[in-house]
Amino acid sequence: MCPYCNGEMERGVIYSDRHALKWIAEKDDKGAIFSPVAKGLKLTNLEKDYVDALYCKACSKIVIDLKTE
Ligand SMILES: [Zn+2]
Repeated sequence: MCPYCNGEMERGVIYSDRHALKWIAEKDDKGAIFSPVAKGLKLTNLEKDYVDALYCKACSKIVIDLKTE
């Protein structure tokens, strides 16, 4: 259920490319070139190169669920 509009969300995945997907706090962001060494929250790794993500078409929002397997 969408946390913004309480509507139906569609389950899907986002695959990482050559580098792991990583969330980096604004204060630690030094640009894409430095992202592999930046402090942050790694979302993907070699064993799991995707994250589960829920998409709400109505809100144009994607919610990444870090806990699902
Ligand atoms: Zn929504």
